[in-house]
Amino acid sequence: MLILWRRHKAGCAADCRCRKEKKRECHCCRCSIWADGYIGAPRFRQSLDTGDWAKAEQKRRKIEDEASRQDRGSPASPAEQEPVLIEAACEDFLSNARAHGLKASTV
Ligand SMILES: [Zn+2]
Ligand SMILES: [Zn+2]
Repeated sequence: MLILWRRHKAGCAADCRCRKEKKRECHCCRCSIWADGYIGAPRFRQSLDTGDWAKAEQKRRKIEDEASRQDRGSPASPAEQEPVLIEAACEDFLSNARAHGLKASTV
């Protein structure tokens, strides 16, 4: 999940409450909107090269979409591992025991 925030330039002329209160979202200027957050392990922090919240949202969705697509591509689900054949193992155990039993009774 990425958070969008307006990164005001040093020379930003917007003299608004949101800027003074350092609110993430400010609609009073055209400074670049940045995305910040974690996608997988590395921290994602990057300018979205737009001052438009709608465009920034679109870009964020695209970035998150791509990230989740990569997640799904990860291989080797545990279900694909060959399960131990319990019946065969049982059979082995029983025939072993039978052999031992026979041996024990014949001695
Ligand atoms: Zn600004
Ligand atoms: Zn503002």
